[in-house]
Amino acid sequence: MSLSFDKEAIMSTITDGMKMKSQMLKKGITSARVKCPKCDGMLHARLAGRKNHIRFWCDGPCKRQMME
Ligand SMILES: [Zn+2]
Repeated sequence: MSLSFDKEAIMSTITDGMKMKSQMLKKGITSARVKCPKCDGMLHARLAGRKNHIRFWCDGPCKRQMME
């Protein structure tokens, strides 16, 4: 098992995170959950602060996460 993410995983995490962020901003909500496209878990996203920083993570086996 490797501890480092490969480039594709990092890119897909950023893409999914940005997608969720723009949808959340459009809906005017600060937290959301969607089914993870990569595994059986749920993707969680929270927006915080004036600049809408996103914290984004999966609770499933793919373990993707991102903070902006
Ligand atoms: Zn996942």
